[in-house]
Amino acid sequence: MERLKSDAENGTGTSAVGRIDCITTASTHPETSGMQRTSPIETPVPDATVSQERPGVSLRDASLREIYAEILGRVDDDPTRDGLLRTPERMEKSMAFLTRGYHQTIEEVLGSALFEVNYDEMVIVRDIEFYSMCEHHLLPFYGRAHIAYLPSGKVIGLSKLPRLVDMFARRLQVQERLTRQVADAIIETIHPQGVGVILEAQHLCMMMRGVEKQSSMTTTSAMLGAFRTQTQTRNEFLSLLRRPGSTT
Ligand SMILES: [Zn+2]
Repeated sequence: MERLKSDAENGTGTSAVGRIDCITTASTHPETSGMQRTSPIETPVPDATVSQERPGVSLRDASLREIYAEILGRVDDDPTRDGLLRTPERMEKSMAFLTRGYHQTIEEVLGSALFEVNYDEMVIVRDIEFYSMCEHHLLPFYGRAHIAYLPSGKVIGLSKLPRLVDMFARRLQVQERLTRQVADAIIETIHPQGVGVILEAQHLCMMMRGVEKQSSMTTTSAMLGAFRTQTQTRNEFLSLLRRPGSTT
């Protein structure tokens, strides 16, 4: 949310019209040009008006709800019909929820669930469900995360690993960065001998637009420390993932 806000606040346009252009182009990937051609989004903006509720309010001062109302007005002929009437409000709440990870920190999420242990075998948590949103199209990507690490005196409470994934997933993301951020957070927090993180995900921006490949799965991995330097450790992780019950 902070990021959205600051994007709007720091818009480089000199007028609200410029800012509106800025926002539409920022959320438009070159691949979406097909959509651009057929969408009324390209309709020229007559003035700085953003909201019917507050005529004359510039984009800079508009609430997220008003901005969504403006978007709906451009893509739908009748944004005031029943079904759409409260949609801007719902979208605002939904976006706040889907990006709540911006307001969380690793310290808050892991809290006191760090334990000293005399255990140096691999800890593995697999099939952690996650839902994120791609930063190129603001469309969901979702799938499963598998995390393993070799402790070095400290472990993380097992229930906290899904929360850690969630914290980073609930931001605008690319899968590669999400993978790396989870791995880095574990390294920074408990300084293990190594960490391996694998994410498998399906991207709606590929499935319902663009290349329209419904069944393709994108896999990303981050192997740090012993998982990078020791083939045996990495293989152990990969073979544990392939055990019955695994989705890999
Ligand atoms: Zn995308």
